[in-house]
Amino acid sequence: MGRPSWRLSAKLLIASSLVTVMGFSAICASVMLDMRRGEEQLARQSLENLASGIDADISRNIELYDLSLRNVANNVGVPEIKDVSKPVLHLILFDHAATAKHFGAIQVFDADGRLTVDASTLDPPPENRSDEEYFTVHRDNPNVGLFISRPMLHRGRYAIVLSRRINGPDGHFMGVVAGSIRFSYFHELFGGLSLDEGDTITVLRRDRTVVMRRPFDLDVIGRNLGERRDWNPANLKDGSSYEGAGPIDRTPRLYVRRAGDHPLIVIVGKPLDAIFKIWRTQASRIGAIMLALIVFVVAVTLFLAREIKRRAEAEAKLEELATTDALTGLRNRRKFDATIESEWRRAMRHKTPVSLLMIDADHFKAYNDTHGHQAGDQVLVGIAICISDSVKRAPDCAARYGGEEFAVLLPGLSPSEAMRVAEAIRTKVLSWSGGESASTVSIGVAGTTPVLGMDWSALVHAADKALYAAKASGRNCCILATVPTLSLAA
Ligand code: GH3
Ligand code: MG
Ligand code: MG
Repeated sequence: MGRPSWRLSAKLLIASSLVTVMGFSAICASVMLDMRRGEEQLARQSLENLASGIDADISRNIELYDLSLRNVANNVGVPEIKDVSKPVLHLILFDHAATAKHFGAIQVFDADGRLTVDASTLDPPPENRSDEEYFTVHRDNPNVGLFISRPMLHRGRYAIVLSRRINGPDGHFMGVVAGSIRFSYFHELFGGLSLDEGDTITVLRRDRTVVMRRPFDLDVIGRNLGERRDWNPANLKDGSSYEGAGPIDRTPRLYVRRAGDHPLIVIVGKPLDAIFKIWRTQASRIGAIMLALIVFVVAVTLFLAREIKRRAEAEAKLEELATTDALTGLRNRRKFDATIESEWRRAMRHKTPVSLLMIDADHFKAYNDTHGHQAGDQVLVGIAICISDSVKRAPDCAARYGGEEFAVLLPGLSPSEAMRVAEAIRTKVLSWSGGESASTVSIGVAGTTPVLGMDWSALVHAADKALYAAKASGRNCCILATVPTLSLAA
């Protein structure tokens, strides 16, 4: 009876521990993921701000320089300008904005690529740039607008050349006005930023040619990232981000792109390692604590489950002892009374018969007197074995009723079936004892299908009466009760 209940308690304990552990793990995982998202959000924001700042600075300088180029392109084609002296021409064409620190001097080339005007000198040495890309691009296409060259060595310094086409009154090609922004501009701009070691800033042309990069590497400058199919930063939308290996080194970074109206794109990147460094430490600390807690809970649960099992087994053993007769190993009187009570009620509910055998050893006093009390005990044990051998169904209950008297409850058996069992016991005892010291038993049998209002003591009383009848009719026999108060028909 105890076994299923301990299994249930142990299962409940394990299930509740499992639910608790899973619940805590889920909460923990969700908090850690939230923390990770927070770190990423923070890094993205600061990268966006950085990219915006750089982009705004570049945008402002290009616009400023482009205004000067436009001024030259618009005025140099005016016919009257041919008549003015060189110093006046310089005053008309070049404003002071174009002489800022990192800007190269503006030069004007005619339709054949010959240098005609140079902002840095009134008498420029002869120079022909008709082979340069910034010249041919404008010559061959009237709608290029502001053209930004690949990074190049321009007049002895690394720079990007900005150029515009000079159109005649009817739109024909009259030459090119060109100037440059030196690398020193980018060096100074990037140098003023506080950046971590692995952080990158890449400035690209819209055709994905690297114009400038931090960390600075001449091998990377001028390289076209469009060659790489797996990573195309130019495809990133403005303000959007990308998480993964970079196009130049394989370090995984969070990249944020920024591109204003000007022809350059700014991409800033921060290594994922650096972004999640603090988070990783916290996550592994919390993870380790969580793991330790889980191990602890599992250990405690297993320990408690084993204790529950042990206790239940001890209780079952105690109950077994409390309900067993010490001499014969049959059920004792207490257990018999409890069993007949519950079986009686069950039979009443299901309208099934219950039968009872009352068994008494014949002339036992005389046997005791002749062979001694201990030999008498052995006979009682022998009779008990004969009874157990004949009564094997699960609901049957064979008990020592008292002294040399036994009772056998047979739920579900009709009186006639019970008579067969009684006969089997009687003959078994007879054949077991045999010989001189013959011991026999007399058995009273009663059976009924209980109805409401009927008490089981009536059944015991009827079986007892039948036993007396058996004694009276010479012993070593079985008698079926014939008490009128009981419905004894099977
Ligand atoms: P009957 O055939 O009429 O039943 O005669 P009986 O001698 O068996 O009946 P009685 O009731 O006069 O005697 C019962 C005897 O059973 C008395 C007692 O000494 C003996 N007895 C009762 N309990 C035990 C026991 O546990 N061990 C032994 N050895 N004898 C017992
Ligand atoms: Mg007796
Ligand atoms: Mg007796």
